[in-house]
Amino acid sequence: MRFTTGTLRVEPDRKHVVLPRLGRLKLHESARKLARRLEAGTARILSATVRRDGGRWHVAFCVEVERAVRTPARPNSTVGVDVGIRHLAVLSTGALVPNPRHLDGAARRMRRLARRLSRRAGPDRRADRRASNRWGRAQAALGRAHSRVANLRRDGLHKLTTRLTREYATVVTEDLNVAGMLRNRRLARHIADAGFAQLRRQLQYKSEWTGGRLVVADRWYPSSKTCSGCGAVKAKLPLSERTYTCTTCGLVLDRDLNAARNLAALAHEATDARSGRESQNGRGADRKTCLGGLVAVKRQPGTASAGQTGTVPPQGGTSTRMLTKAS
Ligand SMILES: [Zn+2]
Repeated sequence: MRFTTGTLRVEPDRKHVVLPRLGRLKLHESARKLARRLEAGTARILSATVRRDGGRWHVAFCVEVERAVRTPARPNSTVGVDVGIRHLAVLSTGALVPNPRHLDGAARRMRRLARRLSRRAGPDRRADRRASNRWGRAQAALGRAHSRVANLRRDGLHKLTTRLTREYATVVTEDLNVAGMLRNRRLARHIADAGFAQLRRQLQYKSEWTGGRLVVADRWYPSSKTCSGCGAVKAKLPLSERTYTCTTCGLVLDRDLNAARNLAALAHEATDARSGRESQNGRGADRKTCLGGLVAVKRQPGTASAGQTGTVPPQGGTSTRMLTKAS
């Protein structure tokens, strides 16, 4: 349900919001970040959307924000990011970004609840059978566990992307692995793919805020199979092999770190191509991986100005959405 007219405000105590028809609602999380912006006059509420998800009620405010122009802390730096399952990400600097705390426990709980659900009598249209109450409860519990896993992971990704775009001028990441996604229906794969998409989307708008650049590698670029030392490409590299061992130059490196380094190297090739120099592309004999496949996204600092338009901007516009949750 979406409200665009009427009273939309955050109470001075920052723990309540006022919405049309629903009145004063208590928030589970403090709305202090939004309230601070509203008080400073750098934000204006355009609309509020109320929805129920994972057994909780959420209210999301669409806000027009005047944002201070920032610049990355290290203006000439590049970082490659490899998103994973066992770790949230591996950076080309060698830094390993661990999964959010409690994520493994939450994922285990989710799998257990999924098994429980499969043992309950669900609805069967052909047998004209309605779902049992126990099935309904198991279903709800699984839904809650699922959103907890998603929330934990999204929170971790937000912290990571904020850190990356504030520090590095160029961030290189991979495109969504569409081919792998269609073939593999396993849960872990599904979560990782959701991570890819979120990471990319967050990096895109956050690099806009900081005036940085996001480079997305072509989805066919063999970041895992390429040697970051000599550029040799392996024909095959099973997922179970966690260490990259190059038969050409003898490099031995963590699989994900090797991929992250290849991604970081792509940024230089993209820069060379743009400055008109013929880049000697040693890596990627496959034609699909050539520079034409690179999507270099040049970004300017955000220049959203408040109070000029009364309409809700389309997603990806110059204005920014800030979300705050309530239950
Ligand atoms: Zn090598």
